[in-house]
Amino acid sequence: MVREAHRGVYDRATVYDILDAGFLCHVGFVADGQPFVIPTSYGRKDSSLFIHGSAASRMLRQMKDGVPVCVTVTLLDGLVLARSIFNHSMNYRSAVILGQATLVEDPVEKIEALHALSEHILPGRWADARQPNERELKQTSVLRLPIEEFSAKVRVGPPIDDEEDYAFPTWAGVVPLDMVAGAPIDDPQLETKHVVPAYSRPYSRRL
Ligand SMILES: Cc1cc2nc3c(=O)[nH]c(=O)nc-3n(C[C@H](O)[C@H](O)[C@H](O)COP(=O)(O)OP(=O)(O)OC[C@H]3O[C@@H](n4cnc5c(N)ncnc54)[C@H](O)[C@@H]3O)c2cc1C
Repeated sequence: MVREAHRGVYDRATVYDILDAGFLCHVGFVADGQPFVIPTSYGRKDSSLFIHGSAASRMLRQMKDGVPVCVTVTLLDGLVLARSIFNHSMNYRSAVILGQATLVEDPVEKIEALHALSEHILPGRWADARQPNERELKQTSVLRLPIEEFSAKVRVGPPIDDEEDYAFPTWAGVVPLDMVAGAPIDDPQLETKHVVPAYSRPYSRRL
């Protein structure tokens, strides 16, 4: 199944690094014979991946019914320009988790999961924002997927050309790609006394 086995990395630490660097995952599942792949945000706490959304969401309703799911996170790090068109590639890190999700019903665990989701994307924000109320918690489903069956695949480094192509007269190398945060824009309804918090000035997930 894995064609380029040398790019497969299967250790838990690598998978955690990829999950912690990503912003969104794609959740794959089959409903009534139809495969769906739905993009959504997520958070990780220890060996659990959390997904949340409206209690009415089809994705979440299907998942909580115990259907098998496949969650993928992909980070694109660069374009790899080889001398031959055939050997062009991409530098990337990706993780795939297989399993069955369960509904987080315990209220304390649910808040902890929502906190993990929030901190994953905006560390520091949870404490600065209004906390969810009873009604909002009721309207929100949180699912936990155990990170037990997983794989990672990573490509780093320069192009790999066929030996005879290294003399071919063209540029070769890597064009790095990075996600860059722009300058924060005030909400037009912002009360002037509030300044942009440190975690958004510029946005960083490093506190
Ligand atoms: C960056 C990002 C982050 C998101 N984060 C969350 C999150 O944290 N929680 C959450 O619940 N949702 C999130 N969403 C929205 C999510 O993708 C779904 O749209 C949402 O969960 C509703 O799913 P559903 O299965 O109930 O869709 P339904 O309302 O049942 O959708 C009906 C049909 O619309 C199509 N569809 C659904 N979603 C999309 C989509 N995103 N793009 C194109 N077509 C679609 C599918 O064909 C689907 O069958 C996020 C989306 C993006 C892009």
